[in-house]
Amino acid sequence: MCVVCKQRLSQKQLFRFVKNSGQIIFDSRQKIQGRGLYICQDCINKLNTKLFNRVFKTTISDEKLETLKEVMIDTKTTK
Ligand SMILES: [Zn+2]
Repeated sequence: MCVVCKQRLSQKQLFRFVKNSGQIIFDSRQKIQGRGLYICQDCINKLNTKLFNRVFKTTISDEKLETLKEVMIDTKTTK
């Protein structure tokens, strides 16, 4: 389920971020253990630090968010 629009979609249509060992990473294969956040393609533009902070109970910087987005876009476009 997408964390923003709450739409129920298959995992293929969702992007997953996960907190693992205190680090938030983009989980392209959706196999990493840990607390996860799912978001659909339509809502990618609505990703923000507040959302991450709420879901992961942490504080991430804008730079970190931008890095995560870049990794996500790279993964998406190289598929
Ligand atoms: Zn969505």
